[in-house]
Order: sequence, then structure tokens, then C-alpha cells
Amino acid sequence: MKKLDLLHEEMAACERCPRLRAYCAGVAREKVRRYRDQAYWGRPVPGFGDPAARLFILGLAPGAHGANRTGRMFTGDDSGNWLYGVLHQFGYANQPVATGRDDGLVLTGAYIANAGRCAPPGNKPTPAELDACQPFLEAELALLTGVRVVLMLGRIAFDRYLKVLKGRGVNLGRPTFVHGAEYRFDGAPVLLCSYHPSRQNTNTGVLTRAMWESVFARARALAEQG
Ligand code: SF4
Repeated sequence: MKKLDLLHEEMAACERCPRLRAYCAGVAREKVRRYRDQAYWGRPVPGFGDPAARLFILGLAPGAHGANRTGRMFTGDDSGNWLYGVLHQFGYANQPVATGRDDGLVLTGAYIANAGRCAPPGNKPTPAELDACQPFLEAELALLTGVRVVLMLGRIAFDRYLKVLKGRGVNLGRPTFVHGAEYRFDGAPVLLCSYHPSRQNTNTGVLTRAMWESVFARARALAEQG
């Protein structure tokens, strides 16, 4: 089996964070009314995408009734509709919708991961839980050797990625998270920042379609240059 597949298996079986494992299992057991007939995944959600990706996208954590239900990154909720819609628009996905692991979705040139692999209560993993999950992010990035651009969806993803670079001894300076910001560090992919496509951001106009498409247009251009 390939190293990335083995890593995905290891993630899905992880039990390092008791609070998160109990929460995910409880949500999977109790469900919500609209999905009451579905079998929830209820486990850590591994990364998803093309092992030869040039674009690496990092979010925060699975949604309780999205990826925690379907078992695939950003699949089955509003954030995923935004993400896969734009990935299709810019040629990274074969379809604009993601409903479940058997929906036929294939990514080409892109790979998606989350800083925390288990759905957290209130969408808020603790720093200790993110620390516990950090080795998975490090291992995934080490295996994705074709990555030229990393796109951080939100400040927590940004901070987690900087921690990876710091661990590698990269000289960071003082980068700050701003939507649309772009950073270059020696020996590392170009870093791009975007607000996360959470409903809290997309319903309030903090993140508009135009802002979202503009980030992906830039990511695509940089990935093709690299
Ligand atoms: S958040 Fe990460 S480290 Fe914690 S249990 Fe889930 S997969 Fe394991």
C-alpha cells in the first residue's frame, strides 16, 4: 500500500484526543433529523485529493454533520459547496458538488486537509488537540512533494502551517493572516491566505464570491508557474 494511503488509515484510527473522539462518536450516534437515515462516519477524516497535487488547501476541522457524517474533507455541507464549486470552476475537480465518498468526485492537482481531523464541539478544537494532530499535517506535507502553493483557509490553518515551517527551521519573519496575503519563504511553497468559507463568513459578506474566486485564480496561476 502507498505511504499516503497508510497515513490515511492511521489518521482514521487515531484516538489521541478523548474529548473529540467522544464528541464525534456521539454526533454519529445521535445524528440530526435530516440525516437520520444515514450511517455517519464518526471517525477522524483523512486528507483527500491528488497525491501529485501542486495546490495544498488547509482548513480547520470537519463539520459535525458534514465531513464527520460523510468521511471526506468538506463533503456534505455549505463550506464544501463553496470549496468544490470553486475547485471545479478552476479545473481542479471533475464536478462542482460533493455529497458523499461514492459521488464520483475526483481532484486533479489539488489536495485538501484540515488542521484538526476530528469534528470539534462548537467548531473549536483546543490548542492541545491541534498540537496532537500536527504530526499528521507534517507527515502529509512531507509526502506531497509536488506542492507549489499552500492555501490557508483561516487564521488557525495559517498558524498551524507556520508551525510546520518553523519546525523545519524556515526563517519566517513576522507574517500576519490577511485575506489575499501571499508569502514566500526560502525552500517552501508560496503561502496564500483566505478567509474560511464557513457560513459565518459567507452569509455575512465577510467572504464574497468575488474574493473567493480571486484567491483561487491566484492560486492556479502560481501553481502553474511553479
Ligand atoms: S484530532 Fe487528530 S490527533 Fe486528535 S483524535 Fe482526531 S485525528 Fe487524532
